[in-house]
Amino acid sequence: MSGEDPQDADCGEVLAQLWLFLDNECDHERREFLRRHLDDCGSCLEEFGVEEQLKALLARKCGGDHAPDALKQRLRQSIREIMMRQAWLSTER
Ligand SMILES: [Zn+2]
Repeated sequence: MSGEDPQDADCGEVLAQLWLFLDNECDHERREFLRRHLDDCGSCLEEFGVEEQLKALLARKCGGDHAPDALKQRLRQSIREIMMRQAWLSTER
């Protein structure tokens, strides 16, 4: 991940990183990458309606707490829908 600028990261790449983050323990480097992208982009996850869920997840995972399965499940479902929508959009263009 070093050398990558989160601000310039593709939102699709961010989603992929987010997906990996769900299945791993708190990864500070990845968390920082996600957080910085969200701070700067602000629109991608908000638009998809997962921003609040993601913030809750980041806080729980990295705060020493276990993220509830229900939260992870919901977020995973949201990410899947976003990815499917993006794949569909890219074939439309
Ligand atoms: Zn974005």
